Amino acid sequence: MYKIAITCAVTGAETTRDDNPNLPVTPYEIALSAFEAFKAGAAIIHLHVRDKDGLPSQDANVFRETMRLIRDKCNIIIEVTTGGAVGMTLQERLEPLKLMPEMGSLDCGTINFGDDYIINTIPMIKDTLSAFKDNKVKPTLECFDLSHIDTTKVLIGEGLIEPPFHYGFVLNAAGGVRYDVETLGAFVHRIPENSYWTVMGIGGKASLSAIYGAISFGGFIRVGFEDNIFYSKGVIADSNAQLVERAARIANEYGCEIATPEEVRKMFGLKSDILFS
Ligand code: ZN
Repeated sequence: MYKIAITCAVTGAETTRDDNPNLPVTPYEIALSAFEAFKAGAAIIHLHVRDKDGLPSQDANVFRETMRLIRDKCNIIIEVTTGGAVGMTLQERLEPLKLMPEMGSLDCGTINFGDDYIINTIPMIKDTLSAFKDNKVKPTLECFDLSHIDTTKVLIGEGLIEPPFHYGFVLNAAGGVRYDVETLGAFVHRIPENSYWTVMGIGGKASLSAIYGAISFGGFIRVGFEDNIFYSKGVIADSNAQLVERAARIANEYGCEIATPEEVRKMFGLKSDILFS
């Protein structure tokens, strides 16, 4: 069997304390949640931060503080968001890349997001890719649609994205394609051979289903309060770590080992640690 990398998205941009009172919001809470997720088996933290009012922020100072607090506690790989939140400019969204984190998420197309939308035109994606390259950040190619995967293939053909590729499929977001195993299969079969991939099912049912889907197709797992706040139907999860623990247990029961951050660094060819200052 193969080694599974677990990503934990501990906060996100949309989830609130009203949704789940256990949501980490301050840099300290986010770092603690990342550390607990790491101890439970997460190799990567997908990082969003919030401002003092708890609203989504791309402020590099808040990212820096949070990243330092995380790094003081453990060597988990930090993947910053460049999706940001609805209404942010591209320039704002790219701010945390300046800190030279090891990884960042990169939206590969325009997305309906509930009643809102996040624009990612091809020129914007190309600008984003150059910011990733300038700061030596490895992108997770977030695809909400098959057309997003086809876009990445065009960009790969133009030499703008370097292997090994790491895809993140976002299924069941409001306004996007639903999660089911056939849809996941279509995504998996569309990406270049020998790519790594993870999948996030948005919402309780899709999130749990996507863990089993990932293992069935040989992919990686993503869990966390950004994607889902429930442990089971109607039951709020106690912590991000609780969701990671379950994912690790399911993977273990299937015969897979859980990849450490160092093992994932080798797979993805990452630099050995964060260079931010
Ligand atoms: Zn995110």
